[in-house]
Amino acid sequence: SVEASIPEPQREAWTRHEFSSFKNKDDFERDVVRHVETTLARSIYNCDQSAAYSASSLAFRDRLVKDWNKTQQRQTFADQKRVYYLSLEFLMGRAFDNAMLNLGAKDVAKEGLAELGFRIEDIIGQEHDAALGNGGLGRLAACFLDSMATLNYSAWGYGLRYRYGIFKQEIVDGYQIEVPDYWLDFNPWEFPRHDVTVDIQFYGHVSKGENEAGKTVSIWEGGETVTAVAFDVPTPGYDTPSTNNLRLWSSKAASGEFDFQKFNSGDYENSVADQQRAETISAVLYPNDNLDRGKELRVKQQYFWVAASLYDIVRRFKKSERKWSEFPDQVAIQLNDTHPTLAIVELQRILVDIEGLDWDEAWNIVTSTSVEKKFPGDSDLLTRVSIIEESQPKMVRMAYLAVVGSHKVNGVAELHSDLIQTTIFRDFVTIFGADKFTNVTNGITPRRWLHQANPRLSELIASKTDGNGYLKDLTLLNKLELYVDNKEFRKEWAEIKYANKVRLAKYIKSTLNINVNPAALFDVQVKRIHEYKRQQLNIFGVIHRYLTLKDMSPEERKKQQPRVSIFGGKAAPGYWMAKQIIHLINNVGSVVNKDADIGDLLKVIFLEDYNVSKAEMIIPASDLSEHISTAGTEASGTSNMKFVLNGGLIIGTCDGANIEITREIGQENIFLFGVLSEDVENLRHEHTFGQQHTIDPDLTKVFDAIQGGRFGDPKDFNALISAVRDHGDYYLVSDDFQSYIDTHKAVDEAYRNQEEWITMCIRSVARMGFFSSDRCINEYAEGIWNIEPLAV
Ligand code: PLP
Repeated sequence: SVEASIPEPQREAWTRHEFSSFKNKDDFERDVVRHVETTLARSIYNCDQSAAYSASSLAFRDRLVKDWNKTQQRQTFADQKRVYYLSLEFLMGRAFDNAMLNLGAKDVAKEGLAELGFRIEDIIGQEHDAALGNGGLGRLAACFLDSMATLNYSAWGYGLRYRYGIFKQEIVDGYQIEVPDYWLDFNPWEFPRHDVTVDIQFYGHVSKGENEAGKTVSIWEGGETVTAVAFDVPTPGYDTPSTNNLRLWSSKAASGEFDFQKFNSGDYENSVADQQRAETISAVLYPNDNLDRGKELRVKQQYFWVAASLYDIVRRFKKSERKWSEFPDQVAIQLNDTHPTLAIVELQRILVDIEGLDWDEAWNIVTSTSVEKKFPGDSDLLTRVSIIEESQPKMVRMAYLAVVGSHKVNGVAELHSDLIQTTIFRDFVTIFGADKFTNVTNGITPRRWLHQANPRLSELIASKTDGNGYLKDLTLLNKLELYVDNKEFRKEWAEIKYANKVRLAKYIKSTLNINVNPAALFDVQVKRIHEYKRQQLNIFGVIHRYLTLKDMSPEERKKQQPRVSIFGGKAAPGYWMAKQIIHLINNVGSVVNKDADIGDLLKVIFLEDYNVSKAEMIIPASDLSEHISTAGTEASGTSNMKFVLNGGLIIGTCDGANIEITREIGQENIFLFGVLSEDVENLRHEHTFGQQHTIDPDLTKVFDAIQGGRFGDPKDFNALISAVRDHGDYYLVSDDFQSYIDTHKAVDEAYRNQEEWITMCIRSVARMGFFSSDRCINEYAEGIWNIEPLAV
């Protein structure tokens, strides 16, 4: 039961003054003016674009909060099972445009802002990205929040409120420089909950004692205590009042402000040291993508966040006064990767050490079985699957702990889900059976990645699929197949792509002062820079194209397909090879882009500081995008889905979700190349132990050009070349190079026939319905979480 704090007779006054949604532009304008003049303490004399953004987002936030409160009340009253999505990263991007679209009030805001003297695009551009993530994993969490709210599931996200998100990337003399991203100067999208705090302990010791119920429990004492403070971010669904909560924890010293004793004894500087040490925990996002290093602060972040989140989840559960055995009927916890694995042991600790349950009963709640009982005799198996690695020093295998403690394990695309069962988790399949392992292929939200990023295409699609319904049922895209031969439709389709390319060309001009021809083929690879993602293969291919063009006569050159090769992405600050790749791309660009022989035939662009907002501009402007990881290394990829959904084609390897994209759109609509994942191990073995590793002559020419100094000091790129030529070519660049070049030739041929190209694009978009994150969330809800949507 939930008691209202306002007694019945007084509630009438509350309903009389209930705050309503915007009915028209006047409502919006009134709110903007009020926020400018009161909340921001400004006036018409000093209301710049930044103030207009602040006031407009506050006007929308007011509406969001109302829906959010009602959603939370509805969920509390319904008292159904909830899902908690634990992710160390949420790569949300901007919130304002998304809020306007999800609340269905963007037109109202556009008109209102125009009357107040602003262009809505400028105001949207004022917002700082919420960049609390590295790449795909964090962006997936953000897409899932959008889908969970849109589908009316009772769901909360739990994460960390980093003071510094992923660093801002600057390119200076061709090198990446990292600049801190302090994004919290003004953030209207979060609500500090200074009353929602949890004290988290580190270090110290444990002794036996009694809890309030008289049960023998463990008492944790001493050590260090840090307080977690909740910050809540409302996350609206599309075309529904459901607004879920993302709760981010911020750390502060438990003792309050600072150490008064030190202060009074004259040690002023050190009096704030504890406070600073505590705040360090949530200060900065670790900037590594797909790599977890054993760092003490990282483990502290993980424990701080899962302990605060579980305390919160358990507190909510205990309010219902249910038996502990009902916990799994009320709570599903999703762990995004192995980062929150400590949640498994923390829940066991809460149940045993604090609540006084016996071990087996607690572990049954946490999961269902344990290894030793099933295979008492097989000590070899026991060693292999041990959660503790008997190394020097001993290590905890977080992934094993995650598998043992979880109810289901998902590999995020079919290939990867199969691979983990035959490789790293093979023994666990023997122990737990194959049922523990499942596949739910990743998806993306079409609201942000089509409706918001590509409004004209979204409108065109809506006009052919009976309105915006396709944004909530993406399979309706298949209706587009009916229009594949419709002249007018095709013309408009092509115009939209061209306009998106013009917009990107203008951006390139304004940021890099390079002219690119929007009629050229835009070939894009934007994602984290990583050897396994193989930007080095791409840039070697670009050099090959350049050398080939240089060898041609002017007449021959005229027959070639003009291209713009566009790169973007951040390298982890400590990842030296990745930084060399960025350096090579920039050096190649500075030679090629000013070569008069080449002109518009080839331009090489590196876009600085790739993030979600840039992705929203770049993806709709792509003709061809590159998803060319070594087979078996990319778990899924999600930008591949975004590019195809926006009417671009893909060049890719048989890896991750590329395989399922091919199955859906047809292999005639994708440019696949390269070795298959089942051959990778043998090839690696051959490179290392076989006869002399021979390098394809075309790739040798590329290496010779680099080593001959055509792209700057060759010493800078020795390591990139010798990784392929002398050190076993782990990522199989040499094996895939020739088929990569040949496939690019096929792309050029295909692009020449614009009519056929457009047909391929339209057919592909029509067949992308499967890749909505809504499909994905429904599969999780049904097959894993066992939760139902809550009727609105
Ligand atoms: N980084 C950003 C900013 C993104 O928006 C995305 C996906 O859209 C990714 C990384 C993931 O890209 P990929 O799937 O190509 O690794």
